[in-house]
Amino acid sequence: MPNCVSKPVFWKIRERLSLAATIEELGFLVMACSFCKCHGMGDRCKMMDGVMRCKECMRRGRSCDGTGVLLSALNCITSEHKRLRLEEKEAAEQLAEYQQKAAEALSRLSRIRSQCESLVT
Ligand SMILES: [Zn+2]
Ligand SMILES: [Zn+2]
Repeated sequence: MPNCVSKPVFWKIRERLSLAATIEELGFLVMACSFCKCHGMGDRCKMMDGVMRCKECMRRGRSCDGTGVLLSALNCITSEHKRLRLEEKEAAEQLAEYQQKAAEALSRLSRIRSQCESLVT
């Protein structure tokens, strides 16, 4: 029987467990896969470069739909997003302030001009 490498690998329990231990040790925190979410593992699980399954799915020998999105990367995105939203708010407030000042200056200018004209005529 030829050894077909393209077939899915069926991990032996011992290999699975040792790989799971390696992921625990060397892996990084990622957004939880649906299995981990459903099974109360929290909103994070651990994955490792070159391994397509999270630690928990590897340990249980099931397929994993983890995205591998790093939690740290996600935190970066959200904090950057928050910062930009704050800056946007500040800029909008500043613009509103300037617009009000411009409107005031404009009405003052037209008042002065009409006074000026009434003096001349
Ligand atoms: Zn998981
Ligand atoms: Zn998983």
